[in-house]
Amino acid sequence: MKHSNKIWNKILDKIYEAQKEVLEKIEKSTSLEAPYSAPVSTILHCYTRAVFDKKFGMKTTIPTNVNIFLGLLFDFTIKVALQGYPIPEHYYVKDFYDNEGNLYKIHAGPDVIIEDEVIELKYTSALLENIPLEHHEAQLKIYMNITGLPGRLIYLTPQGVREYYYDKNEAFTDQEVANIARQFFIDKLSPRYDWECRYCPYRSVCPLAKILG
Ligand code: SF4
Repeated sequence: MKHSNKIWNKILDKIYEAQKEVLEKIEKSTSLEAPYSAPVSTILHCYTRAVFDKKFGMKTTIPTNVNIFLGLLFDFTIKVALQGYPIPEHYYVKDFYDNEGNLYKIHAGPDVIIEDEVIELKYTSALLENIPLEHHEAQLKIYMNITGLPGRLIYLTPQGVREYYYDKNEAFTDQEVANIARQFFIDKLSPRYDWECRYCPYRSVCPLAKILG
């Protein structure tokens, strides 16, 4: 017996290719200046982190911890299981306007669309009693607005699995999406959630970083 890395290298290559494509799309669709434009997942996170990412080109094409790795594997496997390979791409863009007439182009790339439902796959180490997580619900409800479909959140956690169905009328309204976009692009909300700082690669150089216990 000897140590080897042949198969894991193949898996890592696939993950790298897939992640590179995703990150390139995020970069191409993001404009932090007017006309404002960004993917749903970007506007639901810290503005300053998005600025740092753009300025310093910091991209994590390779998972930096096992939870992220498990998340990517779960994502890939279930997408293929539900939709076959190659995985079909779902991509939408919708314009939203706030009360002052500012335009936000919001890009949506949901994980799965089957049987007229938009489905998001989530791996999390959060406790079952704490899910669904607020930002996951927000992401799905924006996808539901953009696609006009009902939604479903599918969770895998170390404790077990969960599934949540959301009726069409639970989608965020145009005004709610525009408010989230405005908080990001105009108010520059940093961070949106305090816990973001714990996982942020810039926390030691960011004066806005929250001190977390
Ligand atoms: S440390 Fe916190 S506030 Fe600063 S960029 Fe990261 S997530 Fe945003």
